[in-house]
Amino acid sequence: MDTVDLRSDTVTLPTDSMRQAILDAELGDDVFEEDPTINDLEAKAATVFGKEAALIVPSGTMANLVSVLAHCDRGTEVILGDKAHTYMYEAGGIAAFGGVHPRTPKNFDDGTIDLDEIRGAVRPDNVHFPQTALIGLENSHNVCYGSPLTKAYIDEVAAIGQEHGLPLHIDGARIFNAAVALETTVKDLTENVHSVSFCLSKGLSCPVGSVVCGSAKFIGKARRIRKGLGGGMRQAGILAAAGIIALDEMIERLKLDHSNARRLAEGIDAIDGLTVQMDLVKTNIVYAELEGGSKRPDEVVTAMKEKGVKFFAVGPARFRMVTNSGVGADGIDHALKELSSYFASA
Ligand SMILES: *Cc1c(COP(=O)(O)O)cnc(C)c1O
Repeated sequence: MDTVDLRSDTVTLPTDSMRQAILDAELGDDVFEEDPTINDLEAKAATVFGKEAALIVPSGTMANLVSVLAHCDRGTEVILGDKAHTYMYEAGGIAAFGGVHPRTPKNFDDGTIDLDEIRGAVRPDNVHFPQTALIGLENSHNVCYGSPLTKAYIDEVAAIGQEHGLPLHIDGARIFNAAVALETTVKDLTENVHSVSFCLSKGLSCPVGSVVCGSAKFIGKARRIRKGLGGGMRQAGILAAAGIIALDEMIERLKLDHSNARRLAEGIDAIDGLTVQMDLVKTNIVYAELEGGSKRPDEVVTAMKEKGVKFFAVGPARFRMVTNSGVGADGIDHALKELSSYFASA
């Protein structure tokens, strides 16, 4: 049995058609904007999201960083949820490189932030305060159970932004998971947002890369910032070639990751000693809680790793598992079998 790797959807490997497209890719110097495959991917991403332009960057972290830096001057403030990836897991880049101050109202389990909290977080014009420059949301929300944000919610946040002349950025590392789960399109979800980033290298299974989409003006600014951060790449069409395949072939299959996540969650919830909040399992991320306090999470992780099932402990009594294109139905069966026998015997 191959390893069942549920640590993240970043562990996904490129498909055969991606590898072939990489071999066949027409290349040029993308800093001169002369890589035809990059230009094709960026045009395609812009169309898919209904935006004027798009820009490939090496990572989701850089996608969010160039976006925040393009929207915000030094000393201004961005409103982000307190569990936002940009706030928690991006090495403080927005503060370190942009001098941008995060304001962090609470994220609920479904990834939303109370609308009045967002309204209240917008700073009045007063010399004591940093000036608010941006609102950020995350869709689907990584730490908040992979929850997808609906268009209705996003539009309400966009309307608050509009009242105050503030743009809205979506960290859409997994926005295709959100769109598939909500049976809508990414274009519809982001109709009223000013910029959106998405990862090619997570569920979509590319080796490297993220893309930012927005207005031509915004993307022009983001391109200059990307260069300044050292993210200008040359014959990067070898990455974009896989990205084009991802947009053509890897979106619909996310449903499979979601049904696998559901089955995994149901199986885990049925195990004595583990519990899952089933109503929160909507995409490809499953958080399981350890009950009873007789086991330590790291013991469970180590024991399961020996049985070929990998996942992370996150917090004192909690695990995260992320289904992905490298894990089939048989992998889910194997994980459930090993977890069941471990908890039955110990
Ligand atoms: C993974 C992730 C990122 C960052 O992507 P990297 O490519 O790992 O830098 C950003 N936002 C969210 C929500 C993510 O899950």
